Amino acid sequence: MSGKTITFKREIPIRHEVDVCVTGGGAAGVAAATAAARAGAKVFLAEATGCFGGLGTAGLVPAFCGVGNGMRVMGGPFCNEILKAMDIPSGAYDREFSYIDAEKLKRVYDEIITDCGCIFALEVRLAAVECENGIIKSAIFTECGDESLFAVNAKVFIDATGNGDLAAWAGADFAVGNARGIVMPSTLCTAWANIDWDKFDKSQLFSQLLQAIDDGIFSLNDWHHSGMFPVGKGIAGGNFGHIYNLRADKTASRTAGWLDIRKRTAEFQTFYNRYVPGFQRAELVATAALMGVRECRRITGDYILTVDDFKNKARFDDEIGQFAYGVDIHPLDDTKAEFERFQREFYGNLRYKAGECYGVPYRVLIPAKLKNCLTAGRCVSTDQPMEASIRVMPGCYLTGYAAGTAAALAKDGDVRKIQAAEIRNIMEENG
Ligand SMILES: Cc1cc2nc3c(=O)[nH]c(=O)nc-3n(C[C@H](O)[C@H](O)[C@H](O)COP(=O)(O)OP(=O)(O)OC[C@H]3O[C@@H](n4cnc5c(N)ncnc54)[C@H](O)[C@@H]3O)c2cc1C
Repeated sequence: MSGKTITFKREIPIRHEVDVCVTGGGAAGVAAATAAARAGAKVFLAEATGCFGGLGTAGLVPAFCGVGNGMRVMGGPFCNEILKAMDIPSGAYDREFSYIDAEKLKRVYDEIITDCGCIFALEVRLAAVECENGIIKSAIFTECGDESLFAVNAKVFIDATGNGDLAAWAGADFAVGNARGIVMPSTLCTAWANIDWDKFDKSQLFSQLLQAIDDGIFSLNDWHHSGMFPVGKGIAGGNFGHIYNLRADKTASRTAGWLDIRKRTAEFQTFYNRYVPGFQRAELVATAALMGVRECRRITGDYILTVDDFKNKARFDDEIGQFAYGVDIHPLDDTKAEFERFQREFYGNLRYKAGECYGVPYRVLIPAKLKNCLTAGRCVSTDQPMEASIRVMPGCYLTGYAAGTAAALAKDGDVRKIQAAEIRNIMEENG
């Protein structure tokens, strides 16, 4: 930091004046924009990458999880719709994982977004927010096109950036990580080819990993290894390799994380080729274009959903749905003790039995300091353990669809005037 500053002043065009502006086109943003447009609002959706879907597409996250609670599909109407569009058989809905063909998912989102009639743009990034007295007036976007910067005015703004950029830049309070500011690790997901799935025995993977750790294959011992998922014939999606305490709201931390994990991904290739039957000829095809950030800012809302709510299976008058995925809080560092803590909690007391669930109150979508803003997806108002439950894609569909519905109902922009029952009714009508 030089400590010096400049004043940056420009006249820029207001490209769109809409009812609802959604920033971020991941699972939550697509759900929000679709719900708002279907409810009759004029909507603008902005996405920074070249595709919709965020971590589930550009981020190469290879599976939906938390789809069902053993009795029924969780994740609300949009989750149902996506599973059907992806041709995932209904019998699979209750299982922990349903695998993702990322290219197909991109096309599914393209079609839904086009059909719902919202205005949208890819490769545009939120750069700044104009906010007065808790009311957001304009979102400022950057583009590679002619104008470089443009503004969008809206009655309601939805933050679906995952990292909570919009709400934080508008002045909302937020928390990051645990009491010491330590966030869940990030993972750069990967695509692999030349796999012989018939020879692979998942039950042996952990002992193979321990052997490789003993043999000194890795520069960092990473005990928690989610593994490879069959996302196609002979191909796999890799979800492994933790980057501990990557702070997605800090550029230096992000930059170092990319370099570190690319180097360590090569070590994982050595591991799979040498130690894992079925993967002797496996080749790394690609690392994801989007860093796999599990956790960044959690925007402080009118209510903070906590791990006690999970334990109590809390229900709320203003709930917009229910969810059931366990508290999947990955080890926060590379010690064996942290790995054992994760195993104890995720496979033990912070996981539900079939049919159990907790309620998700509308208030977790409303940033406490803002009047015309809602959050959706992994930046909603929770403590760290609850973010580790609701952040999975079905949870993002749920909060996204509810936020979009509420935003369309808030005709004068005041999101607190909307009753959760109105949101629930529309979500029920939508399946
Ligand atoms: C490694 C890893 C493994 C996971 N495994 C699973 C799993 O097995 N199953 C599961 O269901 N979930 C899993 N998750 C969780 C899940 O994938 C994410 O939490 C979820 O996809 C988040 O959705 P989102 O829409 O809130 O955010 P994101 O998917 O992060 O989408 C945010 C979108 O906003 C865009 N954006 C960000 N900033 C801006 C900006 N300033 N301007 C414009 N656009 C912006 C981004 O480009 C992105 O497309 C995993 C996550 C990670 C990281």
